[in-house]
Amino acid sequence: MQSTDLHPPGFKRAVVIGGGVAGLLSARVLSEHFEQVTLLERDSLPKGPEARKGVPQARHVHALLEAGREALEQLFPGLVQELCAEGAEPGDMGRDSAWFHAGAWKARFVSDIRTVLCTRAFLEWKVRGRVATLPGVTLRPECSVKALLADPSRTRVTGVLLEGPGGEEALEAELVVDASGRGSKGSRWLEELGYGRPDVEQVEIDLAYTSCFFERPSSLPDWKVLVVYPRAPEGWRTGVISCVEGGRWLVSLGGYFGHHAPTDAEGFLAFAGSLARPELHDALRGARPLSAPVTHRIPSSRWLHYERMARWPEGFILLGDAVCALNPIYAQGLTVISKGTDLLARMLSAQARATPATRQGFARRFQRELARVLAMPWWMSTTMDLQYPQARGRRPPGLGLVQRGFTLMLDLTSRNANACRRFYEVMHMRHGLGGLLTPSLMASFIAYSIQSLFVPLERRANVTVCPPAPGGGHDTG
Ligand SMILES: Cc1cc2nc3c(=O)[nH]c(=O)nc-3n(C[C@H](O)[C@H](O)[C@H](O)COP(=O)(O)OP(=O)(O)OC[C@H]3O[C@@H](n4cnc5c(N)ncnc54)[C@H](O)[C@@H]3O)c2cc1C
Repeated sequence: MQSTDLHPPGFKRAVVIGGGVAGLLSARVLSEHFEQVTLLERDSLPKGPEARKGVPQARHVHALLEAGREALEQLFPGLVQELCAEGAEPGDMGRDSAWFHAGAWKARFVSDIRTVLCTRAFLEWKVRGRVATLPGVTLRPECSVKALLADPSRTRVTGVLLEGPGGEEALEAELVVDASGRGSKGSRWLEELGYGRPDVEQVEIDLAYTSCFFERPSSLPDWKVLVVYPRAPEGWRTGVISCVEGGRWLVSLGGYFGHHAPTDAEGFLAFAGSLARPELHDALRGARPLSAPVTHRIPSSRWLHYERMARWPEGFILLGDAVCALNPIYAQGLTVISKGTDLLARMLSAQARATPATRQGFARRFQRELARVLAMPWWMSTTMDLQYPQARGRRPPGLGLVQRGFTLMLDLTSRNANACRRFYEVMHMRHGLGGLLTPSLMASFIAYSIQSLFVPLERRANVTVCPPAPGGGHDTG
């Protein structure tokens, strides 16, 4: 990212709505371009790594994909090292995760695709600490935004109306960023200004995560993350154990279409025992729970298509879950946010060099460019979910064929380390989907597809044994 010391006219104050990861990363990016950045957060902000009311998902497993880890490190140099020094676990995706996916274990190998394992609350707390020290940035907790302010012609958003500890207040800004998460009122605020509402695309999955901390046992397995995912459309239950800071395991059990894990300790374990593989339940047997299980429901993956709206005001953008909230089982949310804030950084740098005339339409261009960033993760996540007949959402023509190809590609990732590496690189957003189109991978894919016509899955799949980590072990981080 390029730093601009100059604050051109019109770059005086930016306001960010929401102090989650999208809001914090936005504030970091804006701090290079605006004299003042005010971040407004409805909650009071905890002094430590605690989950809070406005971010209920923070109590559940959060994996940070490689591109997200790199973006964080670029924005906050030394952050990843600091996280790990204080208990987060560095992980190599290929070596340290044991992943049973779509009916088979993924290949295990040293992938050099690096992740960091910690709780979402710990990550947010550390990032917030960094943002709080940035010159020009003010964090204002207990401030809830109620409406957007606009100029008389309503063509430009000029600030926000907030309710804070001192009562109602109008706060002016040249740019307002709505990063207030899935519950964002952004579409209602735009409607109040006469812009109408965006198209909403949804895939209804009625998913819930139920999660609980456990003490990590003294004798450690050869994985840092154990994941058991179902094969769609027959299987509906998921489970993840992830090492997190504090010598703990965070365990999240998920279920689609109402198959939600119970919140009592016995029911939680019984649900773990009902997964497609016994390893997760076996790992928990005898492990000491450190908290009571809590549940979070995710009714749908949802994308608000602001980029398609007929008109758009200057001075207002949205990003993060406020625009697109994905099914969390693919762990893309935080990384997609980092891609969005990277886009914002690049566009602001270009804007700083532009003439006042060419600055017009910045907000609208941002929403359109953001939609391009969102398209691939949305496609990946919803294509998989729409394999379930119960999933309600738009099924484009040819979807069945694409799903068949995708499932074969997933099968291949269990048999072929090269295919698995490529899949991880795409999943971790090192490459777009084109990363799967290498000649050698295509050759393996075609050979495997032909085999699949003649050999039943049970005879093709490595479904019984979790492959060991290559030279693995917990201490190799
Ligand atoms: C169960 C679950 C598991 C997940 N696992 C993963 C994972 O493994 N990996 C991954 O990358 N992603 C995961 N995600 C997705 C990830 O949590 C989200 O993409 C991400 O947290 C969204 O961040 P955000 O900042 O956009 O919104 P949020 O984190 O929801 O933050 C919004 C903030 O805005 C504040 N706010 C709301 N309204 C106002 C207002 N009017 N005024 C002021 N403040 C306001 C809220 O209090 C909150 O602090 C998961 C999600 C869920 C639900």
